[in-house]
Amino acid sequence: MLKLWREKERFEGRVEDCLTAIITTRGCSWRKCYMCGYWSESRALSDEALKIQIDQIFEKIGDIRILKLFTSGSFLDEREISPELRAYLLDLCRESGVKKLIIESRPEFIEARKLRDFKGIQLEVGIGLETANDFIREQCINKGFSFSDFERSAEILRREGFRVKCYLLLKPPFLSEKEAIKDLVESAEKVKKYADIISINLMNVQKGTLVERLWERGLYRPPWLWSALEVLKSVSAEVICDPVAGGKIRGPHNCGKCDNEIVKAIKLFSLTQDKNLLEFECKCKKNWLKFLELEDHARVPLFR
Ligand code: SF4
Ligand SMILES: [Zn+2]
Repeated sequence: MLKLWREKERFEGRVEDCLTAIITTRGCSWRKCYMCGYWSESRALSDEALKIQIDQIFEKIGDIRILKLFTSGSFLDEREISPELRAYLLDLCRESGVKKLIIESRPEFIEARKLRDFKGIQLEVGIGLETANDFIREQCINKGFSFSDFERSAEILRREGFRVKCYLLLKPPFLSEKEAIKDLVESAEKVKKYADIISINLMNVQKGTLVERLWERGLYRPPWLWSALEVLKSVSAEVICDPVAGGKIRGPHNCGKCDNEIVKAIKLFSLTQDKNLLEFECKCKKNWLKFLELEDHARVPLFR
């Protein structure tokens, strides 16, 4: 039920160990985004059962100072994590010397009264904005909130002294590869004044989703890793990216030969911000360029 692993994270200018935990909760209250299959991992559990998962995290924390705690939904949704459970977790964080806590939430659950519980901990809240474009977020993703909802919740977080992480998605369904690159670069420009860090999610095809149905019929291809490199090079803000399922048919991929090396480089770039790591050559790059050039001729552009 609990997924737990160690990874690296940038903190105060250094790279440190971080413990990442995904706890099973009742899951996201929205559940309607076209690419998201996280609901399949959810289960309605009592607070006692959730406490057991939280205890297991702190049995493993040792001297790690950074904790990423995800729920496949919104940590600040009190139907998922009750106020009592939140207080229980925060006490454990303080007792075990956790300095930085990273969680995720939809904007509607971000409220000052909840954030005050986090005093003394450096909190970073990831918000899945996906794109700064309201039309794409609504029509291609079905996200159910607007840019102004994001703006408002980012302002609340900043006012309470906490950090904002903004997730952007490369490439939502119904966009061509070229439109997706353009949307991501424009979105990053627009959100950088609200976000302390931008995290780029490269689409991977999850089970039971609309994206999976399109992909099975040959109507969707996950982004090329070349496109990921392109956007990472173009964004002029602190930006990270973890290419989940990178190199796999359901994930962001190139030709199969250059994929692993590029995935590794993107992970290292996320820790160092060294753009030199993003320079690659492979024969398949010219196919990607051709694909960018021709794809838009075979379809009606999203924006005319
Ligand atoms: S992407 Fe986030 S908001 Fe959308 S259904 Fe999944 S967990 Fe909920
Ligand atoms: Zn290649």
